[in-house]
Amino acid sequence: MANIKLEGLRHSYADNPKNDEDWALKQIDLEWEDGGAYALLGPSGCGKTTLLNIISGLLQPSHGSIKFDDLEVNQISTDKRDIAQIFQFPVVYDTMSVYDNLAFPLRNLGLSEEKVNERVTEIAQLVELTSILTSRASGLTAGDKQKISLGRGLVRTKVNAILFDEPLTVIDPHLKWQLRSKLKKLHKLLNRTMIYVTHDQIEALTFADKVVVMNFGEVLQIGTPVELFEKPKHTFVGHFIGSPGMNILPCKLDGDNTKIGQYIIETASQVTQNHKGKNLEIGVRPEFIKFSDDGLPVSIVKVSNVGHAQIVETSFEGHKIKLIIDEDVVLPSNNVHLSFNKEKTYLYVDSWLV
Ligand code: ATP
Repeated sequence: MANIKLEGLRHSYADNPKNDEDWALKQIDLEWEDGGAYALLGPSGCGKTTLLNIISGLLQPSHGSIKFDDLEVNQISTDKRDIAQIFQFPVVYDTMSVYDNLAFPLRNLGLSEEKVNERVTEIAQLVELTSILTSRASGLTAGDKQKISLGRGLVRTKVNAILFDEPLTVIDPHLKWQLRSKLKKLHKLLNRTMIYVTHDQIEALTFADKVVVMNFGEVLQIGTPVELFEKPKHTFVGHFIGSPGMNILPCKLDGDNTKIGQYIIETASQVTQNHKGKNLEIGVRPEFIKFSDDGLPVSIVKVSNVGHAQIVETSFEGHKIKLIIDEDVVLPSNNVHLSFNKEKTYLYVDSWLV
């Protein structure tokens, strides 16, 4: 087990990277604490798999270092890094039994059959494969095969981290839910560093204690699910997390006031004159807006009932503003105004939280 530190990491698949877009990873400085349950969350193409493959050693970064407990491992091969990696598609030996699949990494290490048996029995119980240990892997469902991959990842006792690269993509929705809860339980039981890559915010937020949000080859924020919800550091995080995501509205400075159109909007951010001339936006989540007697005048465009609440889409000078209100709130029919909860309304300068 180890702390994993990434310092000044950059990676390009191009031979001669020239533009920003040539870098799959632009600049990553990140520490994964020993025993943490992390999710690496971001849209397709943002660099998640590249980052994972650099940690496991499948890929050499163009720049920067990877350290396990302060020991640089850049030159250490994948098999010597003691990392278990579970991929999107289960990697199993179809001709072998479930038992032999689980035993394979241990036999490779030269363990006695007695020790192999002890460990395989224990892991099979954890991932619920005991009843099919003697079956051949070829006839099993995708879910059972992914459990084998998972078991193989857990079977070695000496593992620095377990990396999951979208492991539930090929699993049907019901089993997905079960496996996800199982992973969370396994983390509590085994206390190993786990990094779970996904583009699905629900998967990330239910699995992880800390979520690392990536986009454009960069880390935009690391935080607990609550931190990401309550105080997004970047407009992308605000918009990507939440359903619906944060409202991001262009604004301007007028003296010390922030204004949307001609209307002063108070925020929790400290405004300074240095912000003048930059791209300024106000971010506020739909949960922190309500109808009021005065405030920003809007028109109601659409109302969706989502069972326990209503999502109301309004419009101000062509900008959409969504709010979530209780299901029993009666919507105003004319003179519709919105007020924002000041403590939860933030100013963003060039997309970053002030
Ligand atoms: P996904 O969720 O779709 O797998 P990701 O977030 O894991 O996406 P990466 O697969 O790391 O993203 O890709 C990051 C960038 O690097 C993308 O622009 C991708 O097209 C590019 N890329 C990835 N692998 C290669 C490769 N082998 N050769 C060239 N470019 C690549």
